[in-house]
Amino acid sequence: MSQILIVEDEPRISAFVAKGLRAAGFTCLIEPSGEAAVRLVLDGDIDLVVLDIGLPDIDGFEVLSRLRGQGVTTPVIMLTARSSVADTVAGLQSGADDYMPKPFSFDELLARIHLRLRNEAPGDSAMVLTHRELSLDLRTRRATVAGRVVDLTAREFTLAEMFLRNPGHVLSREQLLSGAWGYDFDPGSNVVDVYVRYLRRKLGADYFETVRGMGYRLV
Ligand code: CA
Repeated sequence: MSQILIVEDEPRISAFVAKGLRAAGFTCLIEPSGEAAVRLVLDGDIDLVVLDIGLPDIDGFEVLSRLRGQGVTTPVIMLTARSSVADTVAGLQSGADDYMPKPFSFDELLARIHLRLRNEAPGDSAMVLTHRELSLDLRTRRATVAGRVVDLTAREFTLAEMFLRNPGHVLSREQLLSGAWGYDFDPGSNVVDVYVRYLRRKLGADYFETVRGMGYRLV
């Protein structure tokens, strides 16, 4: 089971994130102090860090640079203010793996955490995702429909994985874009629609429902 450290001094936010992560099967630690967070990660046993920038002692950038300076490669997802492009750029330059603009939806954060942890923890119970006749093996990156292997590109697989992790939920274009393409995307792009078309062609048209004005849903 993966252990996630939430470094955030606003109890409202850390409690919200911890509650969701525990429900998703993770163990969580909450640490409001940047200095203490660095020590916790250096002690080991942390698989991923959700790191806020505004902390009461040293800020998130400093936490990250101390960790990376010590050769720690643990994935870090930074929480940034939506309006602050400068924060985002600075975070990524100081070695963050991803960022999450505040305010964020829990599903969006969870999708990113899953993406970052994907290559870890073999033996994790959720290594094969299934929905009706669709199945994704996260270890071998192999997709099957009714037992027949289907060739997916890396991006198609990531997108399919987001759908199978959220069956029945509407995923917005923005969520899909940020989950499968990361931070480096043009929000006006129609790339999500193009890739959903690929998935429909390869996996079956009736799985991916268009929800007008909102996004797509796995049915
Ligand atoms: Ca804060």
